[in-house]
This record gives sequence, structure tokens and C-alpha cells, in this order.
Amino acid sequence: MSYTQRVAEELKARYADQPEFVQAATEVLDSIEPALAAHPEYEAAGLLERLVEPERIVMFRVPWVDDKGQVQVNRGYRVEYNSAIGPYKGGLRFHPSVNLGILKFLGFEQIFKNSLTGLPMGGGKGGSDFDPKGKSDREVMAFCQSFMTELQRYIGPDTDVPAGDIGVGGREIGYMFGQYKRIRDEFTGVLTGKGLSFGGSLCRTQATGYGLVYFVATLLEDHKDSLEGKTVVVSGAGNVAIYAIEKAQQLGAKAVTCSDSTGWIYDPEGIDVALLKEVKEVKRARLTAYAEARPSAQYHEGRGVWSVPCDVALPCATQNELSLDDAKALVENGCKVVAEGANMPTTRDATEYLIDKKVAFCPGKAANAGGVAVSGLEMSQNSERLSWTFDEVDARLKTIMENIYTAASSAAASAGFEGNLVVGANLAGFAKVAEAMYAQGI
Ligand code: GLU
Repeated sequence: MSYTQRVAEELKARYADQPEFVQAATEVLDSIEPALAAHPEYEAAGLLERLVEPERIVMFRVPWVDDKGQVQVNRGYRVEYNSAIGPYKGGLRFHPSVNLGILKFLGFEQIFKNSLTGLPMGGGKGGSDFDPKGKSDREVMAFCQSFMTELQRYIGPDTDVPAGDIGVGGREIGYMFGQYKRIRDEFTGVLTGKGLSFGGSLCRTQATGYGLVYFVATLLEDHKDSLEGKTVVVSGAGNVAIYAIEKAQQLGAKAVTCSDSTGWIYDPEGIDVALLKEVKEVKRARLTAYAEARPSAQYHEGRGVWSVPCDVALPCATQNELSLDDAKALVENGCKVVAEGANMPTTRDATEYLIDKKVAFCPGKAANAGGVAVSGLEMSQNSERLSWTFDEVDARLKTIMENIYTAASSAAASAGFEGNLVVGANLAGFAKVAEAMYAQGI
């Protein structure tokens, strides 16, 4: 049994109760075999055993008072996974499904994603099982303040820099930043995704969605093709989906779907981005409100976007939302590119099926790295105490996404896996982290 296989087997036995973490970690371990063959010294240094174990996990109580005056208690987490190449960096997720296994999967993915950006950021992730849905602004503020009252002990601009993820947007980051500043009496770049009036970066809101589409455009260009005239199917209706739709339409494609936790929209005339923003960002309403305001839109309960014929599919909702059956429907209907805007939205069997069917599959750790890349640029601007223009940040984002595509596709080709961006992204992301861990000793 090879070194990578042995570590994978140990993980499966030890963390059977953390299936998402095992899924993410074994996928990486299975694809970095060529790197380990080239570096036999890594085994003696216990490099993989150290890589799969977070450097530190913080778990804490988050008490807050709801609008009825009742005390609520949630659980908060921060997984400080790997700091070999920079301070821990990664989002905070507020969602009832959050548990340690989910955050370990996200933190683990973040290590390689951050490495791929070429910026000096380690990997981390955190969050809470708090559900912001249906809560008043005051309740969200009370929760965020309590969460930060505890988290502030463990983070800082040179140690650990959280940002947003599902359930954590500009509003939540603002409340948490305010609390950090109140307690520590420090105005620093301790969080990214901040408001523009207090150290945020232009283009951070758009970054993940725009970056995803830049990645797809680069891939298509490499195949002498473009997004012009393509039909794009998107899941999700959060920040990633909205700006992926916006950029895809700007580049000449037609995005015809989006979805939320209760249903989905099929709009054959193309999603009206201004209306979608109004419904989701301003009113925080359900997609039924989009359908009510747009005659061309059809609203369907449940899930179903993957049954819509398309050239390009962009899963931008959540983990394991695209199953083997969905992958089969996409291939049957002629889909040629699947690019992950969310983190690990495609199940492992669906991923393997798509690759086998020669669909260009773009894994999230490469394709959705634009968000954290612009977070890295926000950190740079905060350190310089300067802010760059939208166009400057956007141009850097585009270059970073092009570089990630090139790094992943050439790593795949050199290892004999031409066109396999899963293997390529894992190999390219791993190389730098492994080198740094080895150099820094045990
Ligand atoms: N949550 C995003 C991700 O999954 C962004 C993290 C960040 O900006 O630190 O990459």
C-alpha cells in the first residue's frame, strides 16, 4: 500500500463520522501520488499525517438573546488548519448544517485553494450552527457580537483572517468587525469582505462569481472556444451565483436558472440580474418574488436545475448538491463544462462520471478561488493603508484565475493526466504547501 493510500485508509477508519471531510481529504490524497513519488523524503517527515490534521481547532459557546428576550445558545468553531505558507485564511459559515466535519472539509480544501492563488495565505474555516434565516437585524447583530467576543482571542491580521461564506455577508462581517474593534481597540485588517467605508476592497463582493467565469473563459479559450452564445445553468442565488450570472451574461452567455433552498427559477430569456439582486440582496426574499415580478420566469418547487439543457453548468449553492443522476442528465443534454462555484458541490461519483465522459470539470478549489484571492488583495491593501480601484482589483483577479488554470492544467499534463483539472489543482496546490512544511521542520 502506498503512503497516500495508507493515510487515506487511516482517515476513513478514524473519521467515519465526518463523511464530507473524508470525501475531500481522500480525493486530494488519491491525486497527489505523483508528488509523493517524486519526494520520498516527505514520508519520513510524516508530512501527510501532519497535513490532514488541523494545527488547532477552537470550539466555543455563543450565547445571545432573541427578540422575545429568550436566551439562545449556539456553537462556534474555528479550524486553523495549516499556516505553512501564510496566516490562516478562510470564511465563516453560519448555517444549521455546520458541524466540525463540514468545517474540517472546508478548511482542508482552503489550504490548497489558497496556495493556488499564489498569495501567502494558509488555510482555515469557521462558523456556527446559527441560522440567520428569518432572524431580525438586531438578532443577527447580537449573535455576531457574541461570536466575535470569543473568536477575537484567536484571530488577528497576521495570525488568522476570517471572511464570509454561506450565511455570512457584508452585514455580518460589519457587526463582527465592530465587535473586534470594540474589544481590542485596534483598526486592522482582521477580517476581509469588509464594507468599502472601513477597509473593504472593491470587487470583493463580485470576486468569487466573476473569478469562476474568468476561469471558465480561460478554459474555453484554451479549447479555441468562448462563452459567446453559450447557455449556462446556475444553482444558488447567493453572492457567488449572482455575480457568476452577471459576468457570464457580460461575456455573451445566457444564464437561465438559479435556485434557493425551497425552489428554482427557469428563465428562458436569461436571468434578470438587477431583479435577482433586488430580491436576494435588498429584500432578502425567496425566489418566488423573482417569479412574481418577471413574466418570462417559471418557478418550480424543490430542486431541478440540472435537468435544464445547457453548455456550461455552474453549481454555486452548497456541498454535494450535484449527484450522479444529475451528472448523467447534464451529459445527456449536451453539457460540456461543469465548474464549481460552491465548495465540493459535486459528489465524488458524479465528478468521476463527468471526467470519464470528457466533460471539462473545474474543481472548486481552483475555479472558486477568486473570492479568497480578492480577500488576499484586501489584506494587501489594508497593510498598505491604501485602496485600489475596481478595475485594478478586477484585472488582478482575472490574471490570478488565468494563472490558476495554467498551473492546474500543466500540473495535470506533466503527471500524465492531461485535461484532469482535479488532479492538476490538487498537485499544484499541494506542491507549495508541502515544500513549505518540509522546509519548516517538524
Ligand atoms: N468563503 C470563501 C471560500 O470558500 C472565501 C474565503 C475568504 O475570502 O477568506 O473560499
